[in-house]
Amino acid sequence: MTLSGLLNIIGATNMIIIMKTGTDEAGITPVVKRIAELGLQAHPIIGEGQAIVGVVGLPLPPSLDEMFEVMPGVERVVRVSKKYKLAGWDFHPQKTVIQVGDVAIGGDEVTIIAGPCSVETEEQTMESARAVRAAGAKLLRGGAYKPRTSPYEFRGLGVQGLEILARAREETGLKIITEVMTPSDVEIVGQYTDVFQIGARNCQNYLLLEEVGKANKPVMLKRGLSLLIEEWLLAAEYVMAQGNPNVILCERGIRTFENATRNTLDVSAVPVIQSMSHLPVFVDPSHAAGKRQFVGSLALAGIAAGADGLMIEVHPNPDTAMSDGAQSLDFTEFASLMPKMSAVANAVNRKLPTPSGAAV
Ligand code: PEP
Ligand code: MN
Repeated sequence: MTLSGLLNIIGATNMIIIMKTGTDEAGITPVVKRIAELGLQAHPIIGEGQAIVGVVGLPLPPSLDEMFEVMPGVERVVRVSKKYKLAGWDFHPQKTVIQVGDVAIGGDEVTIIAGPCSVETEEQTMESARAVRAAGAKLLRGGAYKPRTSPYEFRGLGVQGLEILARAREETGLKIITEVMTPSDVEIVGQYTDVFQIGARNCQNYLLLEEVGKANKPVMLKRGLSLLIEEWLLAAEYVMAQGNPNVILCERGIRTFENATRNTLDVSAVPVIQSMSHLPVFVDPSHAAGKRQFVGSLALAGIAAGADGLMIEVHPNPDTAMSDGAQSLDFTEFASLMPKMSAVANAVNRKLPTPSGAAV
């Protein structure tokens, strides 16, 4: 084989199977046969005492690595192309910018989503919407269907909560984001929300991911409590494979041995995801910290790390909140965090929208 022929094969190779030292042509035959059976092309290269087989063809089944790794004579398998196609940069060289009304998520501006953990009453939601809007938030959050660790805790107002959110949107102009917990609720939640939130506990609920993948509204996918970044991107791939390209990833802290905070904010996930994927990445400092006093620092860290936005829990009276009060900021705390976030955003060549200042 000529050098340029070899380079062509290497350039097109999606997987390289490295055979054990001393493998000869007969030794690679079963591997080559299996590759052909899968409808892929095999390109064996046999050197002195060393053989490798290049695999060309797409898509490569995700479990192909494991299948070849256990075949006789195989030393190791190196996957060249990524398991996630739609979420990765390979076939999508531009960063994804998601338009929600007039808000561009993933553009130059850092988008702030804020609001209560749960929609509790119309008054609590309206007050929150006015306050976060005046401080500069662009979307209102609020759970109508709440995934609670204990079944005896407040689990949300359901449709009534969705109606309250819609009224808050009508009054303030803020777009809304709310969680959908089960495939059968996607339709009703989709009638109200502008963005679907998939919670950490549901990040690998593949039927739910497929259902929101069929809806034509953006999806915020929160990171599962113990999810590897690659698994998280594959979860996003489930949504995208159904035809919905508008996925936002949200790092909300992962479970580690540390219990001084509710979760451990994996700040490094922000630049790491951005190196692997064109999708916008958010940070939720509230669920990471679990305690109000740390939320501001984690919010600033998220922006400094390059996050495209933040999602922050804000409540008119956190001490009486029906969920996540300990990690919720009050209106004054939230408003005074905004200029600090703006300063950090400027330092990393991003900007925060200027507060509207006026309550509606
Ligand atoms: C929430 O946003 O209120 C929530 C339940 O978040 P998570 O799914 O990240 O725990
Ligand atoms: Mn919450």
